[in-house]
Amino acid sequence: SRTRKISVVGARGVGKSTLVVQYVDNYFLESYYPTIQNQFNKSISFRGQTYEVEVLDTAGQDEFTILQDSSTLVHGYILVYAVNSRSSFELLPVIRDKILESTGTDKVPMILVGNKLDLERKVGHEEGVKLAREFGIPYIEISAKTTSEQDISRIFVGLLEQIEGEKIDP
Ligand code: GDP
Ligand code: MG
Repeated sequence: SRTRKISVVGARGVGKSTLVVQYVDNYFLESYYPTIQNQFNKSISFRGQTYEVEVLDTAGQDEFTILQDSSTLVHGYILVYAVNSRSSFELLPVIRDKILESTGTDKVPMILVGNKLDLERKVGHEEGVKLAREFGIPYIEISAKTTSEQDISRIFVGLLEQIEGEKIDP
């Protein structure tokens, strides 16, 4: 079937839940729910097919709690940091290493997201671009507060492209 499981990972407070809720339910999550891990389902039209996407919104990570729930098969990861938080940016290589360790391959579909674009930057655009290039994955900057659902959907479509690989049919 066309069910794809994706996991949203990143430091606490970077806006993982907010971006998922904004995308799936179209509203801005004002409050901070640090401990909730939740699954959301959304149908995405991709390459002329309907994909059922199960989004696992993980409860924020630190170096010790990343991927405790890695037993379930995940097809791809959204790596999120907040552009106003250097520490959340610096956590990404750690998170990525844990993912690669747990899957035993370096070919895990991922996309890098710099969130909170509406706030004062502590991490430059070029730094995000450079890290994504090092990881060999696409990079998207958004604000889960002000970016339209349409634009936020580029994250999910971009990740599906990584998961599904090169298009073969014309
Ligand atoms: P999580 O721990 O990664 O799931 O972070 P949350 O989604 O709970 O967000 C943490 C806080 O940041 C909440 O108060 C959100 O309202 C806020 N937030 C999330 N994304 C944005 C954003 O793009 N811009 C602004 N200004 N606030 C955001
Ligand atoms: Mg959350």
